[in-house]
Amino acid sequence: MKHIRNFCIIAHIDHGKSTLADRLLDFTGTVTERQKQDQLLDSMDLERERGITIKSHAIQMEYVHQGETYVLNLIDTPGHVDFSYEVSRSIAACEGALLVVDAAQSIQAQTISNLYLALENDLQIIPVLNKVDLPSANPEEVTDDIVDLLGCDPEEVIPASAKTGIGIQEILEAIIDRVPAPKGNVDEPLQALIFDSVYNPFRGVETYFRVINGEIKKGQKIKFLATGKTYFADEVGTLKLTQFPKQSIKSGDVGYLITGIKDAREVKVGDTITDAANPTQNMIEGFENVKPMVFAGIYPVDTEDYEELRGAMEKLQLNDASLVFAPESSAALGFGFRCGFLGMLHLEIIQERLEREFDMTVITTVPNVSYQAYTKKNPEEIIVVNNPSDLPDPSKLDRVEEPFIKASIITKADYVGPVMSLCIEKRGVITNQTYLTPERVELHFDMPLAEIVFDFYDRLKTVSKGYASFDYSPVGLRASKLVKVDILINANSVDALSALVHADNAYDIGKKMVEKLRELIPRQQFDIPIQAAIGAKIISRETVKALRKDVTAKCYGGDISRKRKLLEKQKKGKKRMRQVGNVEIPQQAFMAVLKLN
Ligand code: GDP
Ligand code: MG
Repeated sequence: MKHIRNFCIIAHIDHGKSTLADRLLDFTGTVTERQKQDQLLDSMDLERERGITIKSHAIQMEYVHQGETYVLNLIDTPGHVDFSYEVSRSIAACEGALLVVDAAQSIQAQTISNLYLALENDLQIIPVLNKVDLPSANPEEVTDDIVDLLGCDPEEVIPASAKTGIGIQEILEAIIDRVPAPKGNVDEPLQALIFDSVYNPFRGVETYFRVINGEIKKGQKIKFLATGKTYFADEVGTLKLTQFPKQSIKSGDVGYLITGIKDAREVKVGDTITDAANPTQNMIEGFENVKPMVFAGIYPVDTEDYEELRGAMEKLQLNDASLVFAPESSAALGFGFRCGFLGMLHLEIIQERLEREFDMTVITTVPNVSYQAYTKKNPEEIIVVNNPSDLPDPSKLDRVEEPFIKASIITKADYVGPVMSLCIEKRGVITNQTYLTPERVELHFDMPLAEIVFDFYDRLKTVSKGYASFDYSPVGLRASKLVKVDILINANSVDALSALVHADNAYDIGKKMVEKLRELIPRQQFDIPIQAAIGAKIISRETVKALRKDVTAKCYGGDISRKRKLLEKQKKGKKRMRQVGNVEIPQQAFMAVLKLN
């Protein structure tokens, strides 16, 4: 155990975490030339394309220091706020963290919130000043910022370039010198923390764990404490670029486990693995069941594809336990699913995976958060509202509560004004303002989650000319004055376009929605009225004017071959239109509410 170091890298997005990880693997000879491929840790195609790390992974390196071989376990953490619970579990599996700060960008909101997580877990922090090769780097100033933030000595900050290789050796030496070796007792009952899992279609779920006490042996009967289920450890081993099966993994070390589990939901990040015959009495602290934060309807473009969509969703859920879904139906869209996501990025990922991996074209409805409603008749009973159409009738409603968050925004002093205006517009209340340096300010707001789900982040980037970073954490539910705005197209209420909004903004949002829909809905041979309503009251109206010329609809002969049908389907997919009554509504219309200015 004396020769093990467990560490993670925390960084704001784009500050160089993945590049640095690659460089460490290179330097320690963990990758051969042949295996080299940029950003090795980001293995899913989607991750590499988007340049983000969606899921955390782990990798083991060896490094010889003063004649002794050390095992370094790098536990990668997801780089997006949607996955912050997973970040916290990865951090809990480590004794140290590299805090990577871009020498041109300095400290950003995500750096700080992950740093707090690391400090709460008593991690040894090694500050790394990355990208010193950049001409725009400000090494002195940014070092000062880091020193102020951590209260460390300037000498502790390691100047580095993950691109050119500057500082890589110093970082490895610092990991060995400064990060404490793991503590733990190999003779105690097994106690291991699950910090990640990966679905493998051939072998079942691979569980990544860190052993705190005891050891986990091949063939052992083990138990997961939170789920209460038992399994046999068919295979255990360590993770390099490929898996190395072993007879056992002992306390202090990191490894993978294969038990033949076929459903990702059985492996819960944060759960404790123990010995079934001689279980530990102590569950590892910090376990939580992850809860979806954002809900949206997903419908097949072609109603006939409902069963196919169900199959695809079930398969996705097998390897993404944080996706939840339940069947729902919409008068406008037919049969589909109400799905729960960790956040908007997660929603986009699922939508993309449905298309790429399952060739499904879907319509996604306006995302919303999860509300809790109470009726006058029974003011104690919680009614969970994951779909605006589930909101009880206003006349019966006692109150509605919505989730709030604590937002942390770091920006330049010049942009404090515009950032504050934006937050106030989004129903935010400022709770704290701290000057990190004379030019850099950290602002704290309490805000409704619903307001940031939509276009908040884009707006923030615009008002701050890109000089603002943002992070948030949930703070629970609070009562809000919410009303349901319905949209009628050609006098038909389109349930999939309903939105819950704050009463004070309802008129404004209703007006903007009908204006937006007028732009998006293609003209037809008749006038199409578009109205916004609260209950029976129409609050706004626009009209999509009829086409003057009679454009004959494309007609097909009697024999519609399979191929023709397929072509039709593809066309529909590309257009992503949905017929509602006698009006064709494009997919963008369902998301229109997200892009109102
Ligand atoms: P991550 O989001 O923290 O994982 O950041 P990446 O590792 O993906 O890096 C973001 C961008 O910064 C990429 O284009 C990298 O090539 C670049 N980058 C990373 N480290 C350095 C560095 O030390 N110097 C320079 N010039 N660019 C770097
Ligand atoms: Mg990355």
